[in-house]
Amino acid sequence: MTIYRIAIVGAGPAGYFTAQALQNLQSDQRKFAIDMIEKLPTPWGLVRSGVAPDHPKIKTVSKVFEKIATTEGFQLFCNVELGKDISVEELVSNYDAVVIATGMDKGRRLGIPGEDLRGSLSAAEFVPWYNAHPDYVNVDVPLDTNTAVVIGAGNVAMDVARMLALEPRELDCTDTANHALEKLHKSSIRTVHIFARRGPEHVAFTSPELRELPKLKHTNVEIGQYDIEDALNRVTVSGNIPKDVQSNLDAMMAIAKTPQNGRERKMNFHFLASPIEIKGKDRVEEVVFAINEIQNGKVVETDKSYSVKAGLVVSAIGYQAEPIAGIPFASGRVENTDGRVGETNMYVVGWAKRGPSGVIGTNKSDAAAVMELLTTKLNSPKVNFDLITFLRTRGVVHVSQGNWEKLNSAEVAAGESAGKPRVKFTDRKEMLGFAG
Ligand code: NAP
Repeated sequence: MTIYRIAIVGAGPAGYFTAQALQNLQSDQRKFAIDMIEKLPTPWGLVRSGVAPDHPKIKTVSKVFEKIATTEGFQLFCNVELGKDISVEELVSNYDAVVIATGMDKGRRLGIPGEDLRGSLSAAEFVPWYNAHPDYVNVDVPLDTNTAVVIGAGNVAMDVARMLALEPRELDCTDTANHALEKLHKSSIRTVHIFARRGPEHVAFTSPELRELPKLKHTNVEIGQYDIEDALNRVTVSGNIPKDVQSNLDAMMAIAKTPQNGRERKMNFHFLASPIEIKGKDRVEEVVFAINEIQNGKVVETDKSYSVKAGLVVSAIGYQAEPIAGIPFASGRVENTDGRVGETNMYVVGWAKRGPSGVIGTNKSDAAAVMELLTTKLNSPKVNFDLITFLRTRGVVHVSQGNWEKLNSAEVAAGESAGKPRVKFTDRKEMLGFAG
């Protein structure tokens, strides 16, 4: 029997589904010894620091991750950073294959004047702040304003808008970070405007997320019925309406037709408006939008504009990856052909491979296809390499699967007494305490 050693860098959904794909490709003749490396002291990636706290069902995929992690041949090494604790060259030369599953954690920039004013944030900072990511605890999130603007029409914009527009008591029973919950309880925000630069027929929201909105107990959600009627007219004229577009328009029409009942909290959707400037003296005070039109099926900016007074702007317009030394990057992701990096034994999966698209489950088929390819390129196995000894020699403390299980149980136990699924640790030192 041949044993191949595979390093997976990144313990998010793409990393776990890669490990699962390898486990499924094992036979009596071929086994995989998998070392999963993660720079944070905790695994699960966006399932821990991205998925909105009021979406607990989505997080149950972590049960699948734990099953993968406790399957023979899998070892977890959290608190180990590629490029700092171990180099790309060291991984590539010591493992039969290396799979990069590091995702994307930098927010794309709007590139407009005023973007760096206080009160202007990227969802790439705001989301990990409310999700207790240890590196984002101190993000400055000023909530002492009546109105917030969210830019973007994707599911991240939707999560951000909901988190700002919800009655915070609805979050008390979730795993929202305590520091965020405390601030949200004192928030003055009562109106959240979401801005899409194109029409309702072009939004990247998905219909299950839209259909949740009329169920909010304390927030009126407003969409202009005329906006949806116009969009329906446009798509009807253009012929075949894709199923997801029809489903989104139906969901938005249902929201538009839901009677408003004078709730104090409001979420308003605006279409065909591109942000062109954020104004303010020391912090955000106003956001200026160019009015767009649809001409011959194309969205074009006009010279007309309008503005909205707001003290907070969160842009949720997509993500890009921070380049890692020794790995070729282009257009914010790892350069690859079908997941293989050049002619090397390095592969890439997930957002780092295909860009910031798809839901958690998308990573399953994506990783399976790349691992099929990887298995066709394997040579004779390399000499045995022991990452535990390597890290010990370097003085790197890693969080193993056993350590993580103890940390995980402590968070869940802390949550039980507070009526929450867990209370997340945010202090690295405290987390590393579980690694002895
Ligand atoms: P996304 O789905 O790609 O949406 C990005 C949005 O930003 C689009 O509406 C885009 O508009 C807009 N945009 C881009 N540049 C802009 C600019 N300069 N000015 C104004 N608007 C701009 O990205 P995402 O929301 O970050 O989500 C990433 C992935 O995670 C998606 O696949 C999403 O479905 C997934 N996700 C899923 C869930 C869930 O399942 N509940 C939750 C969160 C995220 P254009 O279309 O005009 O470019």
